[in-house]
Amino acid sequence: MSDNNIFKEINQKADIVNLARAYGLAIDRQYRCNCFLHNDKEPSLQLHRETNTWWCYVCGEGYTPIDFVMKKLGLSALEAAKDINKTLNLGINIEGFKPEEEKLVKTNEYFYRRADNTITMKVEKWVKQSTGKKEFYPYALIDGKYVKRICK
Ligand SMILES: [Zn+2]
Repeated sequence: MSDNNIFKEINQKADIVNLARAYGLAIDRQYRCNCFLHNDKEPSLQLHRETNTWWCYVCGEGYTPIDFVMKKLGLSALEAAKDINKTLNLGINIEGFKPEEEKLVKTNEYFYRRADNTITMKVEKWVKQSTGKKEFYPYALIDGKYVKRICK
């Protein structure tokens, strides 16, 4: 079984609502809860049952069940997949599974321009094949070279 399939299988079988509950979040009737990534007073984190995803509109963060556990517990994708498998009793044979190198696919790139039309910054959008997670890589233009900016 390839990487893609094992992560995809976890992301499909781990019901996002059960998952959020199992990892200690209190879900309201609209499938919202307080976000665990910021100091949240009102529920900003929305669970989407149709797509089995989550999103905090304050943080601008979210996506798959695996992303959820990666961020909540500070785990790698594989560690998170194993943790979910155990916590939700999914019964997927994942022990001994060795991931291939993470594959990234570039989906878009664009440039920010000043009013005089000179370019200030380049942004690349990539998608991690394993998790479907989108990555944004901004580059600042410094001395004529694009330098990758370190983000949080
Ligand atoms: Zn948040």
